[in-house]
Amino acid sequence: MTRFRSPAATASPFDVEAVRAQFPILATQAHGRPLVYLDNAASAQKPRAVVEAVSDYYLGKHANIHRGAYLLSQTATRLYEEARERVARFINAAEPAECLFTRGTTESINLVASSWGMQHLGPGDEIILSLLEHHSNIVPWQLVAERTGARIRVIPIDDAGDLQLDAYYQMLSPRTRLVAIGQVSNALGTINPVAEIIAAAHAIGALVLIDGAQWVAHGRTDVQALDADFYAFSGHKLYGPTGIGVLYGKRRLLDAMPPYQGGGDMIAHVSFTETTFAELPNKFEAGTPHIAGAVGLAAAIDWLDALGLEAVAAHEDALLREATTRLAEIPGLELKGTARDKAGVLSWVAVDPPISTLDMGTRLDLEGICVRTGHHCCEPLMDRLGVTSTARASFGVYNNRDDVERLAGALAEVFARARRRPGAERAAAIAETIAYPGAVAASPAAVAEEIRELFEVLPDWPMRYQQLIELGEGLPAMPEGLKTRANFVSGCQSQVYLAARVRPGTDDVIEFLADADADIVRGLIALLQRLFSGQRAADILAFDASAFFAELGLDQHLSLTRRNGLAAMAQRLRELAGLYRPDPDAP
Ligand code: PMP
Repeated sequence: MTRFRSPAATASPFDVEAVRAQFPILATQAHGRPLVYLDNAASAQKPRAVVEAVSDYYLGKHANIHRGAYLLSQTATRLYEEARERVARFINAAEPAECLFTRGTTESINLVASSWGMQHLGPGDEIILSLLEHHSNIVPWQLVAERTGARIRVIPIDDAGDLQLDAYYQMLSPRTRLVAIGQVSNALGTINPVAEIIAAAHAIGALVLIDGAQWVAHGRTDVQALDADFYAFSGHKLYGPTGIGVLYGKRRLLDAMPPYQGGGDMIAHVSFTETTFAELPNKFEAGTPHIAGAVGLAAAIDWLDALGLEAVAAHEDALLREATTRLAEIPGLELKGTARDKAGVLSWVAVDPPISTLDMGTRLDLEGICVRTGHHCCEPLMDRLGVTSTARASFGVYNNRDDVERLAGALAEVFARARRRPGAERAAAIAETIAYPGAVAASPAAVAEEIRELFEVLPDWPMRYQQLIELGEGLPAMPEGLKTRANFVSGCQSQVYLAARVRPGTDDVIEFLADADADIVRGLIALLQRLFSGQRAADILAFDASAFFAELGLDQHLSLTRRNGLAAMAQRLRELAGLYRPDPDAP
């Protein structure tokens, strides 16, 4: 399936500056730099029209739907059902009742897995997924497979990130009950030939669920032309609110499926002897739904449709091409995902010099540039690519050439800076001798006072970040031999090893060496080391490290996984200290 590459589409006038003007957030700054938002695959920003539709609804039209005899409730009901009609037109469903509101793609897939899957799957049945899938199109199927005895098969990919369709065709058999596949890979941008995939599955009598999370905002969707049995997507990637999404399903399938959740609004009649269920779509919408979300989603669809999806697709395609060319020019940067047909997603890793994706993301953040780093909820895909994470830029309708320029320029600088640093060989040579660092002051509290003073004179987070990096550069090297499984600290996004011991000749002085593959984490290790290495167990236990890190502002400026990693390291030291604290009651 290709997007819109007709000459008319590419030539269509697309005024990106006028689009940008509708997103107040794009005029804000991050770390004192103008914001460059390149994380649209995770979530898109909202135009004023969407925010106003939601606020108008709450300020003047809100009541609970379906149950009210009064005008306001009828108005809210009408808006909610009009939103459903708008969604149906947007994806060309045969009727609005085939469009169920959910919390998002994840819930849509879980609904099908729980309801259809529990009803139809049994031992020996097969569900086909692909290696490109997001965890939310893997785990719900694993859960249902475990409960029903069904088996999951996985379509492989080639090195470019294209599905190996031959393998898919061979996998199809009378045992195949369902194929669940993403239309666009969130990690690599591959656009899958879903029409072909659906036709082949139907030919052997299997159903197909399409995860359209990464497609709907970037190309036209026609569920009838595709002949999709189920189609899932989220509002927040479509310039709409969070907490609202859609599951499309063919009526005959939805009619035959049992409810997903029980509660108000989804019943026809309830008694303790027998309960009957409402018709579609209410049967699948138990409880008070996200009415404002549906209203906002309809506004987002109106807004996007008015721009013209053809023009949007052509614009994003041009940005992708330019960014691909610019990033490919950076020596040592390796692009991941070079499929024939791609949406506006660009993933890469730094091979030479090796720079952790976390450090790339943090450095770009300090320039005001938002990219995503990590496994992108695609761990099986990362394994196939031979990496644990990538850095990813993903384009939206408001991105412009300046954004691409800023990204490419900042990344080139990140690489240049890393190249200027002392080589890994030198660090390895130093690491031949094991030198556990001793105490830098009388107690953790005294060290904390010094660090506090240091941070106080640094006025902003970019400078503090730089300071942390410099501290990290001074870390005593950790010999490779100490980087064992036992010394691995889980809970950190990067690879962290920590080897602690009681100083020989003492009963309770704890010292440690640690290392990580990311500069920012090495900086945090350096902080911990200054605080704790060479200190007495009782003093370590008496010091509240998490309160201290919060006071430094680290909890505001580090992502949750990094904070958890820091906490995991501190916890490991506390556990060790706990073992060696002299027992006050000992004789
Ligand atoms: N599938 C894909 C391909 C996605 O990219 C995402 C979001 N990253 C999801 C599913 C899950 O979407 P949500 O979190 O909105 O439910």
